[in-house]
Amino acid sequence: MYPRKFEYIAPNRVEDVLRLLRKYRDEAKILAGGHSLLPMMKLRIIGPNVLIDLKNLRDKLAYIRDSGRVVRLGALTTHAEIEQSNTLRRDIPLLPEVASLIGDMQVRNLGTVGGSLAHCDPAGDWAVAMLALDSSVAIQGERRRVIPISRFLKGPFTTALRPTELLTEITIPKPPKGHGWSWKKFERKAGDFATVNVAAVVIPDRRGTVKKASIAVGAVSPVAYRASAAEIMLRGKRPDSELLRRAAEAAAEPASPISDLRGSAEYKKWLTTVMVKRALEEALNRAGISVEVSKHA
Ligand SMILES: Cc1cc2nc3c(=O)[nH]c(=O)nc-3n(C[C@H](O)[C@H](O)[C@H](O)COP(=O)(O)OP(=O)(O)OC[C@H]3O[C@@H](n4cnc5c(N)ncnc54)[C@H](O)[C@@H]3O)c2cc1C
Repeated sequence: MYPRKFEYIAPNRVEDVLRLLRKYRDEAKILAGGHSLLPMMKLRIIGPNVLIDLKNLRDKLAYIRDSGRVVRLGALTTHAEIEQSNTLRRDIPLLPEVASLIGDMQVRNLGTVGGSLAHCDPAGDWAVAMLALDSSVAIQGERRRVIPISRFLKGPFTTALRPTELLTEITIPKPPKGHGWSWKKFERKAGDFATVNVAAVVIPDRRGTVKKASIAVGAVSPVAYRASAAEIMLRGKRPDSELLRRAAEAAAEPASPISDLRGSAEYKKWLTTVMVKRALEEALNRAGISVEVSKHA
């Protein structure tokens, strides 16, 4: 199908984007990579009167900056640029791994991290990864505000962005050297959206126990969530297989999946437990924490 008729504008300055957003408000839509917006326009799920294309702002909004304790990603950074970044491979390897499994090469070459977060598809991958890494986002409107990703993601296709605001940057604290990480995306076929996606980050302490575990889960609830109860269960422990099993169950507890073409709600809930357990095993292993087989397992 063809989209509804719209006016197309491609400003050269961020200030002009903001001015246009203030002028057109709900009538306008930002166009970044177009890989979520254009299909929705073609299916006539949405029909904005004005498209504000960010393509001329890549020199300002597409970057991966090593800023010491954090890495900053410009909102227009593509999935492919994240996949290929040596800085990220060295300091935050979870991110290139996530990028490498998004869609296919065409999607990765055009789709942007900012577009994905702003779109807030419940099955999107970036929200899960950014939650596990305690990221924050910078939003530019009349004023600039920076909020944690947990406050940015509000619900399915809903974020803290106001109609007059632009997502400009994502800031990710570098986990300490020696941290373990894992990305488990269960997909029906290569390039598909996730049935369940799980990000885990484990920071070990000197005694070989878990100093901090971060677990984020997506695609099985209206919006990606942090599995806080499971994180608390693991803190200060050298987990055995029984503790991992209980933590994985606790992590799946908040899941409220819907039955759809990717499986029944019951199946997805069970799958969440399996994927969290696998993610934790891999992250613990990479953090150098061995998991004993429990006598009760
Ligand atoms: C075949 C296919 C497979 C895919 N597979 C996956 C997958 O496996 N995993 C996954 O996570 N995603 C997947 N996607 C989605 C893909 O990652 C999109 O690129 C992403 O969701 C949206 O990014 P975009 O840059 O294309 O944004 P656009 O489509 O241009 O915009 C999406 C929405 O965000 C708004 N927006 C964009 N940028 C900004 C900004 N800077 N500030 C404020 N609002 C903004 C737009 O107005 C629009 O409402 C797939 C898409 C396709 C077509």
